[in-house]
Amino acid sequence: MFKVAVFSSKKYDKNFLDKFNFNTSLAFEYFESKLSAETVELASGFDAICIFVNDTADKHVLEKLASFGIKVIALRCAGFNNVDIEAAQQLGLQICRVPEYSPEAVAEHTVGLMLTLSRKFHKAYNRIREDNFSLDGLMGFNLHNKTVGIIGTGNIGLATLRILKGFGCHLLCSDPTENDEAVAMGCRYVSADTLFEESDIISLHCPLLPQTKHIINEQSLAKMRPDVMLINTSRGGLIDSHAVVKALKERRLGYLGIDVYELESSLFFEDLSGEIIQDDVFARLSTFPNVLITGHQGFFTQEAISTIAKTTISNLQHLLEKKTLDKAFLLY
Ligand code: NAD
Repeated sequence: MFKVAVFSSKKYDKNFLDKFNFNTSLAFEYFESKLSAETVELASGFDAICIFVNDTADKHVLEKLASFGIKVIALRCAGFNNVDIEAAQQLGLQICRVPEYSPEAVAEHTVGLMLTLSRKFHKAYNRIREDNFSLDGLMGFNLHNKTVGIIGTGNIGLATLRILKGFGCHLLCSDPTENDEAVAMGCRYVSADTLFEESDIISLHCPLLPQTKHIINEQSLAKMRPDVMLINTSRGGLIDSHAVVKALKERRLGYLGIDVYELESSLFFEDLSGEIIQDDVFARLSTFPNVLITGHQGFFTQEAISTIAKTTISNLQHLLEKKTLDKAFLLY
């Protein structure tokens, strides 16, 4: 049997991985801890590890893993900004991921954030529970005829465009690679600056890379329309949180909907309801009436989690048993 240490594991990870792990030579052991310099020793004695979005696989951690004889790292997610790819390559580690599990899960969550902010569902929910049926302050706006700018037209960006097309939105896109389906749908590719200037709603769907870090910053925010809605379900590091707080305080940003946050690794996926939040920027963000935050749950549907579990198992089987895997599932 090949032993696989699963880091950052929650009950649902165990349930779904165990459910689909039959007729394989994989034995999963589950650790609630995140992978980090402090916890990497837990991987000693395993053949492979399985990690998620907020685990740390930097050079130091990877060197430790290699010294324990770990050969394979299976990411049970699409994004890989938490992995030092250069170091992993030098150490001869094989890294696989789940490049596409359900773009619609994240796209639907994205549009859910847009609709909640535009129609104030979050306020209406609380108001009705207190028998307050006044409509004061609940006036929204139509998505129909609005211009929505999508940054990154890969799997999730495209799935979001398909939904928004149905709402009758005008669609602008920015991506170094134009997508034929988006063009056929009538979307217009423009520069990032034009997208910032012309969009009523901006939604981020590009990966977090050195060149996309803080693409939403003081300068880009200054180019946007005063009542713009900004949505981020991609990675927190795309947004300079300080700049966004400033823009919200100065009423230059109309709405903010985020499923990801720059420093989410010390917050998300845990119940901190009895704790004092130490991150003042996050605490400030959560006070604005026009900000909606979800805790990285865009991927969290039954369909997506099933596909993640099945693909992760298949990736591990291929790499550990057959020593080969289709390059679509490999990082390099
Ligand atoms: P993808 O690789 O299919 O698409 C990414 C697109 O971004 C590509 O078309 C690429 O060309 C484009 N891109 C790269 N650099 C760019 C730039 N500078 N400007 C504009 N576009 C650029 O990825 P995907 O599956 O659509 O996922 C997008 C992101 O969503 C992932 O990187 C991940 O971080 C995030 N994600 C979040 C969740 C969640 O639960 N919230 C779940 C899955 C993925």
